[in-house]
Amino acid sequence: MTETEKLKEYLFNEKKCGWDTISEEKKFEIDKFSTEYMYFLNKCKTERECAEFIKQILEENGFTNLRDKLVLLPGDKVYYMNRNKTIYAAVIGEKPIEAGMNIVGSHIDSPRLDLKPNPLYEDMGLGYLKTHYYGGIKKYQWTAIPLSIHGVFVKTTGEKIEIKIGEEENDPIFTITDLLPHLAQEQMEKKLKDGIDGENLNLLVGSVPIGNETISERVKLNILKILNDKYGIVEKDFMSAEIEIVPAFRARSLGFDRSMVAAYGQDDRVCSYCNLRALLEATKPEKTAVSIFADKEEIGSMGNTGMESQVFDTFISELLNKTNENKPNLLQKVFCNSKMLSADVDAGMDPMYSNVSEKNNSSYLGHGIAMNKYTGSRGKAGASDANAEYVAEIRNMLEKANIKYQMGELGKVDEGGGGTIAYILANKGIDVLDCGVPVLSMHAPYEVVSKFDIYESYRAYKEFFK
Ligand code: MN
Ligand code: MN
Repeated sequence: MTETEKLKEYLFNEKKCGWDTISEEKKFEIDKFSTEYMYFLNKCKTERECAEFIKQILEENGFTNLRDKLVLLPGDKVYYMNRNKTIYAAVIGEKPIEAGMNIVGSHIDSPRLDLKPNPLYEDMGLGYLKTHYYGGIKKYQWTAIPLSIHGVFVKTTGEKIEIKIGEEENDPIFTITDLLPHLAQEQMEKKLKDGIDGENLNLLVGSVPIGNETISERVKLNILKILNDKYGIVEKDFMSAEIEIVPAFRARSLGFDRSMVAAYGQDDRVCSYCNLRALLEATKPEKTAVSIFADKEEIGSMGNTGMESQVFDTFISELLNKTNENKPNLLQKVFCNSKMLSADVDAGMDPMYSNVSEKNNSSYLGHGIAMNKYTGSRGKAGASDANAEYVAEIRNMLEKANIKYQMGELGKVDEGGGGTIAYILANKGIDVLDCGVPVLSMHAPYEVVSKFDIYESYRAYKEFFK
């Protein structure tokens, strides 16, 4: 190398593809981790399914329900389940909690279609379920694809009936029909956002009538009979139900080189899975290691299962009570001493839509975990902006562990923007930095990530808990 080349290598932040930097052995590890991740995705398509799966994995790895523990000692592993939709877990550190915690926060809800409270109807001999979309979706992406039905009915007796239809090979699936191109002249003239009307996101669920023609709505009646025979429910039970319509696709390796994962719900189950795996390996951490698996992030984190609720504070207070540390105002102090990685996905640079991104400040697939110093939109409004001192600390940690990272922001200035749960925890006094896996087709029924970035994110969270 010439002197000038050396100088350039030393001074420039050269952005290299991660695949260029790794051994065959590591490629094998990456592929193995991704296969386990895809298993998780196929099992868990709703926040309830994720919370239950995470609980089971935690229990298999020595975590107990915090409720069942009276005293906590360093090395103890506990979890706190909030209404079957949010789960927090902790490994008690060697140091008192007062010294601060290391938190990795991800969310397990994903964009989807929810059933309305009175969803079932019949029109011209076809049976439908009416939906109301959840989170930011492009409505046209949800028509003409196979969909499955997941969720719970709760009867007035309190009995809970879980349903999952459309995932097994022999299950029926469901779909939302779209107009044939031959007759879509008017639809095709519309703006893309108006092409599919929200009130037309109706799921086709049946077509066979029951009984004879003296009775009306015989297709609807037949569907209710099938549901009653199998699950014991009646139409009124839809009112106390949470039924989610999700893509029936399975997670698959993508590309001739199998370097990517295509699947539904990777925002933010990709970071959630990495978060979980990292916590399982946090044995005897110096500071208490905490994982958040939150609900309702996609619709603003409100409600008692969202991060805006006080339930997380309650969880930490309980940790303080049971480690016998608690005293007035300690919780606030704990937060001020704590650090967090907000583990949420980032927009990956898509060469076909590069016009919405700025190439020097975008995240690239295969370039490692993607950090966003700040989020927000239009003049950083609503941003949680990580302090330079804290970003330096995380950079130092990643560089020492040889973990590949990149730093960008979500899109061009004034192009749009977004947020995560980072600001909610930062508002409590915690140092928070957004970092996660870059995604293509974010919020679409089929999202794409790089296996390299999944593995680097897992390694980053693991390092953070050490
Ligand atoms: Mn997200
Ligand atoms: Mn999202």
